Amino acid sequence: MPIFWQCDRCTACCRWPGEVRVSEEQMNQIAGHLGISVNAFIRDYTRLTAQRDGLALTDQSDGSCVFLDGQNCRIQTVKPQQCRDFPNLWDFPRFEEVCRAKPLNVPADEWRERIRNATGKSVDPFDVSPS
Ligand code: SF4
Ligand code: SF4
Repeated sequence: MPIFWQCDRCTACCRWPGEVRVSEEQMNQIAGHLGISVNAFIRDYTRLTAQRDGLALTDQSDGSCVFLDGQNCRIQTVKPQQCRDFPNLWDFPRFEEVCRAKPLNVPADEWRERIRNATGKSVDPFDVSPS
């Protein structure tokens, strides 16, 4: 049976180094959620990616994501796809050492449903390759 990683909301992935990329569509959604213009969102909350091929969220002074507020994401309902997809649709070697998500062995239909709810995507478990 496929494994669905159930997030524990520990917020470790909102604190570790790296880039949270945002697409144009996501920028529109987040700016709308914040009640600001897309230009203001880009100016105040994004930076150029290291590859210089897009925009990513900025960090707070301690390295955590600009939208992390204590244990909460300020843009939870419109957070970037990259945040939604981890760790079920992308991960990295030994991510379990730093992520507290619980591995649940579930039937394929339930996995698809859980993935749809978590990420908004329709994915087949056999399309996801383990890291
Ligand atoms: S947008 Fe929200 S979920 Fe994504 S890294 Fe920032 S605080 Fe975490
Ligand atoms: S995905 Fe993992 S690291 Fe991120 S909040 Fe959930 S349990 Fe924590």
